[in-house]
Amino acid sequence: MTTPHAQVLDLVRGGTASSRADVARLLSMSASTASARVDALVRRGLLVEHSDSTARAGRRPRVLRLRPGLGSVAAVDLRHAVAHLTVADLSGEVLGSDRLPVSLDEGPRVVLGAVADAVLALASRSVTAPDEPSQERSGLQAVCVGVPGPVGPALDRVVAPARMPGWNGVDVAALGQELFGVPTLVENDVNLLAVGDHLQRPGADHRVVVTVDTGIGCGVVVDGRLHRGASGMAGDVSHTTVVGAPRVPCSCGRTACLDVIASGSALLSALGEAGVPTASMDELIRAVHDGHPLATGLVREAGERIGDVLSTVISFFNPAELVLAGPVSSLPPFVAALRSRVYASCLPATTASLAITRLADGGEATRAGAIRLAADHAFAAGPLAARVR
Ligand SMILES: [Zn+2]
Repeated sequence: MTTPHAQVLDLVRGGTASSRADVARLLSMSASTASARVDALVRRGLLVEHSDSTARAGRRPRVLRLRPGLGSVAAVDLRHAVAHLTVADLSGEVLGSDRLPVSLDEGPRVVLGAVADAVLALASRSVTAPDEPSQERSGLQAVCVGVPGPVGPALDRVVAPARMPGWNGVDVAALGQELFGVPTLVENDVNLLAVGDHLQRPGADHRVVVTVDTGIGCGVVVDGRLHRGASGMAGDVSHTTVVGAPRVPCSCGRTACLDVIASGSALLSALGEAGVPTASMDELIRAVHDGHPLATGLVREAGERIGDVLSTVISFFNPAELVLAGPVSSLPPFVAALRSRVYASCLPATTASLAITRLADGGEATRAGAIRLAADHAFAAGPLAARVR
């Protein structure tokens, strides 16, 4: 439940409101009510107000912003072999970043133990700049862990991930609280990408974000907000049955799921079975760039399969933008096949307003989304939450 003060704080730290007048207008309240709420947040040390030195002559408007020095948050972008760590202040400004080799196969306690050591070291190195009049040190307030698997509705645990042995059902939020010492939440990496992409490229408030990497992920933004669905599984198209596809067994116990037919891992397996051993996504990408006929054909077919599934999603959601991310989405034969299936299967009235775009650096958007969620969590569940209520 968002409290009246939290609403004001959210508008200011999200950059939507920068004055008392903005707050009154955006929350449809009187100037005096808006001012009373802003005053309370200033008294509690969460907001500061200063003269806009960029304004020219006349009465300078007062600008609201989050008070510096409130502490930091960390984003952990867990991949199968590497964790990207970012520490930011509560307004989202990045203070430091690092990379840590990990193996998700070692399970949550080993992986998050190593990540926590690195995050805490990074956070202590990334304290507020020396010229910042910081009364409080930049102590870590909250952590958001992004994972390449589905996450339950309470943002606390990974649910039936395809390639994360030992993680299913583990309470990552509780483990994070223990290891990081601060409130921790976990979220699917493509959902974080969708949140971060929308923050970094506002506009299309209805968008579907799809990554095609070793696995296939999909995040849905409806009316400018991430849509998680009733159990957090919204957008998970990877276990959609591909009609007419070979009956390849899937981790979910069924066969011919999109994940085992058209994901990067499926393509690597298919190439291996055809006598073209391909060890990594980088090798697959190179093979297609070099015009390897089998690799190119498989990638094109994957584009058709994924395009067929997305056609249903696009007809249903009517997004303004379909954002493609991940290494396979960088391949022209894949994108061409996907586009042709979407345009062939959806009504012109649906595709007329649809932009199909390619996000070159999904990692950066994923991290921005994780930082935002960690900051939200800091004000909702961390030590600062008592000052917001
Ligand atoms: Zn499956």
